Formats: sequence, C-alpha cells, structure tokens
Amino acid sequence: MKKLLTLILISFTLTVSAQYDKFFENKTLRIDFYHSGNFEHEYFRPDELIEKKGWAGSKVNLVDTFNFGKFRIMVYDKASDKLIYSRGFSSIFAEWRTTKEGHGACGNYSETMMVPFPKNTIKIAYQSRDSLNAWNTIFEDEIDPKKAEILKPKKPKAETIKLHYSGDPSIKLDIAFIADGYAKNDVDKMKKDFERFKEVLLSTAPYDKLKDKINIWGVIVISEQSGISSPNDSIIRKTAISTSFNGINEDRYILTTDNKALQDLLSDTPYDQIVIMCNTNKYGGGGIFNFYSTFAAGEKSAAFLLQHEFGHTFAGLADEYYTSEVSVQDFYPANVEPWEPNITTLAKFGTKWKDLVADSVAVPTPVNAKFNTVVGVYEGAGYVAKKVYRPYIDCTMKSVKMNALCPVCRRAIERMVDFYSH
Ligand SMILES: [Zn+2]
Repeated sequence: MKKLLTLILISFTLTVSAQYDKFFENKTLRIDFYHSGNFEHEYFRPDELIEKKGWAGSKVNLVDTFNFGKFRIMVYDKASDKLIYSRGFSSIFAEWRTTKEGHGACGNYSETMMVPFPKNTIKIAYQSRDSLNAWNTIFEDEIDPKKAEILKPKKPKAETIKLHYSGDPSIKLDIAFIADGYAKNDVDKMKKDFERFKEVLLSTAPYDKLKDKINIWGVIVISEQSGISSPNDSIIRKTAISTSFNGINEDRYILTTDNKALQDLLSDTPYDQIVIMCNTNKYGGGGIFNFYSTFAAGEKSAAFLLQHEFGHTFAGLADEYYTSEVSVQDFYPANVEPWEPNITTLAKFGTKWKDLVADSVAVPTPVNAKFNTVVGVYEGAGYVAKKVYRPYIDCTMKSVKMNALCPVCRRAIERMVDFYSH
C-alpha cells in the first residue's frame, strides 16, 4: 500500500513538473514595472525585462493558493488562455497611498516580479484589491519571449555565499540576506552578522523544524559609507541599496525605494525572499509581503526585528498590535475579512483559525491571564483597538518578544515553507 502511494505521488509530481516544462524554460524572467498613482487612482507601467539564470521558485506550485497581498499578477498562456503562474504581493505604494500625502500627490514606485521564463507568448494581468477585497484588473500586458527586448543581467557588484544549504533552490525556500550600510572596513562584521542572524532565524519556531527545506544565502555588498540614512537625526549615508529610516514619514520604518539597485545586486542569487540586513544601532525595520524585509542589525532587539519583519514579508502576517504611530489610515475596514492569516474581523472567520479554537473558548475571548496559552479571538489587532481580532494574547507579531510566534502565525509560516519547498 505504501509502495502504491509512493508511486502515485511520484507520478503526480512528474505530471505537475511536466506542466512547468511545457510552458517554461529553466530560467527566470525578471519583470520590472512602475506602480503609480494615489488614493483614488492607480497605474502599472512596464519597465525593463531582464533574464536571470535558473528558477528558484517551486516548479510544482506555480499558481498561488494563498490569496494574500494587496496586489497580484496572473500569468496566462496566450494560446490556451490557461493560468500558468500567479503571485500575490504588497508594496510601498499600497501603504503610501493611504497616508495624507497619498490623498493628493502622485507617487511612483519601482516594483519587480519574478516569473518562470515563458516558452511562448504570455498575457499578464496586474490586479489590485478594492475596498471589499475583490480583485480588479488594472492593466493587461503581453510578452512574446521571442520578440520582446529582454536584457541580459549585468554582473552584480556583489558576492553570494552559502550560509545554510539544504539542496536545489527549486525545491527549497531560498532566503537572501543582503547587506546594506557595511563599508570596506565592516566586511568582517558583516560576515559575523550573516552567521548570527542565520542562527536566529533557524532557531526560531517554526523554522527550527524546517531547516532541511530552507536555503539561506548571504549577499556581500560593500557600501561607500558605513551606517544607513536617518533623516530625522540629520544622518545621510551613501549606501549600495539606499535604505533609510523615516520611510513614508515614520521614523523607525526602514525602507528603500531603489528597487532596481536591490534587484541588480541580487542578479546572481537564487531567491524567493529578500532580507536587507542594515548596519545601524537605531531601532527599526520594515516588512512588505513578497517584496522585502529590513531590520537594524546592530540594535539590541535585532533578533526580534528580523523574526517580526520576516513574518510580514514571507507569510503575509499582520501586526497584531493596536497602539502605534503607524500613519496608514483605514487599513482594515469593518465587515471585510482581512487577507492576512493572523487577524480577523469575524466576517469570514471560518477561513481563518476557527479550527484551532476549542468549543469551550468564548468568542471573542476575554484577555485574562488564564488564557495566556490559549488560541482564541482577542479584540485589538492590525492597529485597530475595536472589532479587529488576534489569535493569541501575545505574539512576536504583537510585542517585542523573541521566538514567541503564536500557533496561528506558526501554522501560516509552515504552510508557506511547504509551498516553496516542493
Ligand atoms: Zn501571532
């Protein structure tokens, strides 16, 4: 019986990876585009197409099954109209457009999606969620790989090293740690930081039990100056990726808008996820789903920052806290189920962690010490004190606590690792 099941599984895997071979070559098409507009209007405009060797993503799980992110791309084989690849993502634009400035001015942000390199013409739909979380196509494009201008990658001014290797990138989750704000004299420190934070991530639950499904790469990048910019402290540094505090006018939010420099430096690195390790002692970080994470590597809570921000970027986890200086507005409208797996408005709770809540636990669940280790439905999450709920009294996504992701966040991460490692 076991043998039969193994045979069935092998033939299933062959069939689906034959799907990959039917539509794609064993390389990557990097699609750069601009995402522009404001609170009312939104535009996508294609920028450059660049070829990259190999495909680090799964060759089996090509269509996104999570439905996370503010945006997604849907890639169709033009001849058959079959959906052959899709991926959800979020972006700085999504956050910026909800700020005061985003209600009047016009923003323009560079973004990138990696897709397996198509053999034939593809149709791409760039989609955005509306206020009810329904998908709308904003822009449609076609790429004929035989006719389109597809650039060869330039040799990056970076060196990629293996920090933790468990196997072929197409059957592993590949995380690229890339350094910013480390000058020539900081290279030893950079290498020690790579090792330290690799250990931090691999010793955090649930990654600790999934090490054999993960590769971690270190990308050595030398910046002109040491440290990163912090405009509110009158500190401006010239660095390779231009990371800076005060992203969208929040002092401790570290972002870079130089997406193209970041992607160029990663030209030789097989990655599914990007973590920018910033050489600074000031508290801060950032994490945007399927875009990148940043964290302050020299700050005393750096291990927490990495775990927290990577939770946003990798598994689409929401912040579970609700007192904050975060300046984004109207993030979680009432009566619409948020897409993030670890918060709910109870609009469609059955799609979230209802299966993990015991019948004896009241919904909503009172915040009482006797429920400290009980999965429930606790009011206050996603920056909102009322009518948005979190699964646990405390979690790494709520407080500055290391290695304390709640069971619902851990399950979301396990599911995502599983998606990438087939
Ligand atoms: Zn949690």
